[in-house]
Amino acid sequence: MASRNILVINCGSSSIKFALINEDHGAATLQGLAERLGSPEAELRWQQGDAKDSLMIPDADHRAALAQLLPRVQQAAGGALHGIGHRVVHGGEQFTSACRIDAAVLEAIGSAAVLAPLHNPANLQGIEAALAVFPDLPQVAVFDTAFHQSLPEHAFRYALPESLYREQGIRRYGFHGTSHRYVSQRAAEMAGLAYDDSCWLVAHLGNGCSTCAVINGQSRDTSMGLTPLEGLVMGTRSGDVDPNLHGHLARTLGWDLPRIDRLLNHESGLKGLSGLSNDMRSLEQAREQGHAGATLAIEVFCYRLAKSLAAMACALPRLDGLLFTGGIGENSALVRSKTVAHLQLLNLKLDPAANARCVRGVSGTIQAEGHPRILVVPTNEERQIALDTLALLPN
Ligand code: AMP
Repeated sequence: MASRNILVINCGSSSIKFALINEDHGAATLQGLAERLGSPEAELRWQQGDAKDSLMIPDADHRAALAQLLPRVQQAAGGALHGIGHRVVHGGEQFTSACRIDAAVLEAIGSAAVLAPLHNPANLQGIEAALAVFPDLPQVAVFDTAFHQSLPEHAFRYALPESLYREQGIRRYGFHGTSHRYVSQRAAEMAGLAYDDSCWLVAHLGNGCSTCAVINGQSRDTSMGLTPLEGLVMGTRSGDVDPNLHGHLARTLGWDLPRIDRLLNHESGLKGLSGLSNDMRSLEQAREQGHAGATLAIEVFCYRLAKSLAAMACALPRLDGLLFTGGIGENSALVRSKTVAHLQLLNLKLDPAANARCVRGVSGTIQAEGHPRILVVPTNEERQIALDTLALLPN
C-alpha cells in the first residue's frame, strides 16, 4: 500500500495552523498558517520543503481559507489525502482517546466548551469548515486532555465540595497530552525500554508549560488543572498563585474578573516577572547583559519547574528518566541546567557538554555518567495527531 497522507488542523478563533504529514516521513510535507481570518488582512502562508509562499485572502473565514488550501494540499499529497486530524483542546471526561468525528462527537465537543470557552468553539468552527470542504474524508478529533484521563481520582480531584465535581465538572483535566504521550513513547524507544514498562517525568516547556508523570504509557499526574493556567510559570501565564489572590485584588484594587483573568493569563509569567518579554531567548540574552528582571524570571521559572517535577515524582514507583521538550525544553541548556541543579535529591545530574549539544532539534541523553537518565526529546504533536488519525482509518 502506498504511504498515506493526513492533514492536521489546529484552529484558533481567527487562525488555522496546518501540517500535511506522510506516515513514512518525520517532517511535514507542507505546513503553514492562515491568520487574521474574518478581517481584510486575512492571509495564508505556507512552506513546502525550503520554499515559502503566501496569499492574501481578504475577509476569508475558516471555510474560505480551507478552500484556498485544498488544491495546495492535494498537490503536495500527490492527489492522495487519506484523512484529517483535528486538534481539540478539551474533551472533558467523555474522551479518553482520539475518535472519528460524527454528530454525537460534535455535540460532545460543543458541551465541553463550557470548560474551554476560548478554544473548543474555535476547534469546532475548524471541524465544521473542514467537513464542508472535505466532505468525503474521514475526520478525527484528537484531544489535549484525553491522555490525562488515566489520572487516579486522588490526583484529579480538588479539595472542593463534591457537588462542584459531580454537577459542574470541576476537577483537574490536564493539557499537552498529545506532546506528553509522543515524547514519553519516543523516550522509551530511545532508551530501548518497553513503553508499557517504563516510568518518566516529562517537562513540556513552550509558551505553555506543564509537567507530567507517565507510568507504563499512562499519565498519572500532571501540573495543569481545570484550565491551562494551573502549575508552572509560563510565557505570559502566572501558573499557581494563592487562590485568595482574586479576592485580594478585588478588595484592594477593585479589580473585576476580566481584569484579573487578563493579569493571570496575559500579563504574568516570564513577561510579568521580567518586565521585558515572554520569550525565553530574549530573556537569556538580557540575562547575559545583566538585566535583573530577566535573571529573576529565569530563576523563578526553573525553581518552580523543579518543584513541580519533584511533586510529580510522588506518582512514580521508579524513575527511568526525566524528559525535556517544547521550544524551551529542546533549546535552553541554561533552563535544563538550572532546573536539574535543584533536583539533587532525585540524584539527577547533567553532563554539561551533552547538555550544550542538545539544541535545535538534536535529541539525546544529557545526564552525567552514573546518574538517572535525562533526555532531550523534540516533540511532534502534528505527527502524533496524524498517527492517531491513521489508527482510526478503515484498512
Ligand atoms: P513553543 O511554544 O514550543 O514554540 O516554545 C516557545 C518558547 O521556546 C519561547 O519561549 C522561545 O523563546 C523558546 N525558545 C525557542 N528557541 C529557543 C532557544 N534557542 N533558546 C531558548 N529558548 C528558546
